Amino acid sequence: MSYVDEVYDLVVAKNPAQPEFHQAVKEVLESLRVVIEANEEKYRKDALLERIVTPERQLLFRVPWVDDKGQVQVNNGFRVQFNSAIGPYKGGLRLHPSVNLGIIKFLGFEQIFKNSLTGLPIGGGKGGSDFDPKGKSDREVMAFCQSFITELYKYIGADTDVPAGDIGTGAREIGYMYGQYKRLTGLYEGVLTGKGLSYGGSLARTEATGYGLLYLTAEMLKCNGKDIKDKTIVISGAGNVAIYAIQKAWQLGGKPVTCSDSTGWVYDPEGIDVALLKEIKEVKRGRLTEYVQARPGAQYHEAGSSKVWSVKCDIALPCATQNELDLEDARALVANGCFAVAEGANMPTTMEATEYFQANGVLFCPGKAANAGGVATSALEMSQNSERLSWTFEEVDARLQGIMVNIFHNLDEAAKKFGCEGNYVAGANIAGFLKVAEAMTAQGVV
Ligand code: NDP
Repeated sequence: MSYVDEVYDLVVAKNPAQPEFHQAVKEVLESLRVVIEANEEKYRKDALLERIVTPERQLLFRVPWVDDKGQVQVNNGFRVQFNSAIGPYKGGLRLHPSVNLGIIKFLGFEQIFKNSLTGLPIGGGKGGSDFDPKGKSDREVMAFCQSFITELYKYIGADTDVPAGDIGTGAREIGYMYGQYKRLTGLYEGVLTGKGLSYGGSLARTEATGYGLLYLTAEMLKCNGKDIKDKTIVISGAGNVAIYAIQKAWQLGGKPVTCSDSTGWVYDPEGIDVALLKEIKEVKRGRLTEYVQARPGAQYHEAGSSKVWSVKCDIALPCATQNELDLEDARALVANGCFAVAEGANMPTTMEATEYFQANGVLFCPGKAANAGGVATSALEMSQNSERLSWTFEEVDARLQGIMVNIFHNLDEAAKKFGCEGNYVAGANIAGFLKVAEAMTAQGVV
């Protein structure tokens, strides 16, 4: 049996009931096969793959807090410090009822390669909790965040592990966590990114993942003789990534026509009104039904009956959550003439759907490259905190654009070098892996 297959079987056996983690490992190892097999003896002797699929440290902890009725609630807290070969652990905190160890491990594993691809010195980690901030008062969210950090603060720090936002963790949550970290340690340091501008946050961090997704998509199209201008774009999600993807899509001359949340989705033939969407989601924390009340020309569909992917488009950008675009959706998109897909969310496309896109000549860029703008800008926030300086919006945005363009060229070249031109999934995994593997080898058995 080949080394790749052996390690995949080992992951499944040693990590039962973690299907998302298995899926992420399978996708990465499959595309690394050509690289691993060229060096199989050495990698096997060093147990490099066994080490890379095993987190350096996994923290599981109790998060007790008191709700507004005086009732004690208990949630599970997680932080997986996956790989620090090229820098301090870096990755977001997800707050969503679906969070479990397998999901955090899949996200942490992906993060290793994503962070490597940015070209910046950051290792891979991820964390979160099954706490649901939705429907909670500000005081309840604060109580949860303070309790979460009261346990986690022992294991994080500006040079060891720097968490950030993710689903359910926005500026409010980061603020409460930062305050509690400072109170417990007495340190005013860049331990979290995604901070508010008044206390060490970076301009353009809020916009970074969505903007970065569009910068990379534009470069991918350009290198394939295409353009975003006047193209119809279907986007899922209505959170941080989706909102700023929609905004940048307009700025680059495209027409984003959809958005979605967990209860339904909107099709606006005139194009999504970003100001209205921001008002509903960022200010009121409301539902998308309010969008169609304000824009009668738009249509609202309940979740479950259909998905945004049924809308005819040129470009599709999944920006909500994992496995939200399956084979049936991929068939519908291809049949409707969609020629490019780039993942704003982490692993939103199932493996079967990805393969279908690739087999049908659709340009497909995986999330670990396409949504790396968020973590890249987080690393820029870390640099500004270390320097005790704040860069302008234009400076951060220009660096972000440069990083995204570079990421695309790195993965494009890696794909060409290893005989799989145009396969950007393989290119991203190979380019991300080689740097981490070299650093791990140089640092010995640790
Ligand atoms: P947000 O919480 O801001 O928004 C998530 C959006 O997706 C919301 O519209 C939410 O709807 C919807 N959603 C979440 N879970 C589900 C679900 N199970 N089914 C259907 N819809 C769902 O998160 P972000 O925009 O920050 O993150 C979106 C994705 O992008 C995630 O995969 C995240 O890991 C990834 N990502 C985010 C980065 C960032 O900088 N923010 C960086 C890199 C990747 P509702 O409000 O109804 O729950």
